[in-house]
Amino acid sequence: MESGMKILVQKFGGTSVANLECMKKVREKVQAGLNKGYKMVVVLSARSGETNRLLALASEWSSTPDPAECDSLVSTGEQVSIALFTMLLKDAGIRARSLLAWQIPIITDDDHGNARIKSIDSQHLRGYLDEYDVLVVAGFQGCTESQRITTLGRGGSDTSAVALAAALGSVECEIYTDVDGVYTTDPNICSSARKMDRVAYEEMLEMASMGAKVLHIRSVEFAKKYKVPVRVRSTFSDDPGTLVTQEDSSMEAVLVSGIAYDKDQARVTLHDLPDVPGVAAAIFGPLSEKGVLVDMIVQNTSLDGHTDMTFTISRKDLKQTLAIMEEVKERTGATDVVSDVNVAKVSAIGVGMRNHSGVAARAFSALTQEGINILMISTSEIKITILIQEKYVELAVRILHDTFGLDWDIN
Ligand code: ASP
Ligand code: MG
Repeated sequence: MESGMKILVQKFGGTSVANLECMKKVREKVQAGLNKGYKMVVVLSARSGETNRLLALASEWSSTPDPAECDSLVSTGEQVSIALFTMLLKDAGIRARSLLAWQIPIITDDDHGNARIKSIDSQHLRGYLDEYDVLVVAGFQGCTESQRITTLGRGGSDTSAVALAAALGSVECEIYTDVDGVYTTDPNICSSARKMDRVAYEEMLEMASMGAKVLHIRSVEFAKKYKVPVRVRSTFSDDPGTLVTQEDSSMEAVLVSGIAYDKDQARVTLHDLPDVPGVAAAIFGPLSEKGVLVDMIVQNTSLDGHTDMTFTISRKDLKQTLAIMEEVKERTGATDVVSDVNVAKVSAIGVGMRNHSGVAARAFSALTQEGINILMISTSEIKITILIQEKYVELAVRILHDTFGLDWDIN
């Protein structure tokens, strides 16, 4: 980093900028950064509820809202936040200005509603930091090379912040929200859930993909790629929060770091498929063409040259998947297609699994003792996932949390 300028990126979510009172708390956090000698880049979300309100408006006006116009509309929520907040800073005598993505610019591809950041003009931003002590940047938005406004997907302000932190060489990216960090599991269903002091990028990626909503998954991918330490913490307390960072040996000593779950699962089975080359491709090819994400897949061993194939998808894709599977059934000669939406996924996640065996066996025996039937299993290097009946999810989460000693701080 040239010129010795110390830069800190802070991002504040919708509940942190919801009203004047909250924004005054945000100003205190920004002031604390200034007091430590940092130049500040503050990324804001839309005020809570605003993005939903704008999206509803779009679908009220049009049955198929034009994607580019929709982005132009929904990105306004962040513009309101940054203008109001910059006024507050200026009232306190702080040298500050607001910036929309196109003014920086933050260049993205043209995948409206889900755009990816391609580049950020960090030199231009640094130029502004000579003149101002705080730059207040609209999160969630970008701009294409041909000057169209884009958005980065729901929750995308986290990604704006991490990308800015990477581009500017910020010491850390602080993500302020209304909870004081990342928990070992959902505290709403497990009262002994504990805030983690640190979590590895890879663990966080697995947790985010399982629906833990604290961080936008792409922000974690970005942070991992550019090695940006991310601190998730609360606007409304002084707790240091949770540091999302590279894994180290102390993390590996812990077997399981967190338990995640996902109720958005539907299971589909094709019975009596001919066990010949090309059958899996015949099933999953058409699904991927239609953009249906398949999660777990299990193929039974062959019996008389026939086999069953079971997989899971998001519940919103079930109707479309079943329609596709009827065609696949005709084409392959499968006997029938069955589905079940009363299923859910529970995972134990931890980088420590890489060097320890027996984690799966421990998980299975704990669930057996409670009479929970396991419908499907999948494992990766740092994760064990089971599919069970949805009604057992809370129980399974609590059992696994307890089995792996997560209610105790063993670090
Ligand atoms: N305002 C956007 C949303 O609600 C982006 C964000 O808050 O991160 O999805
Ligand atoms: Mg968020």
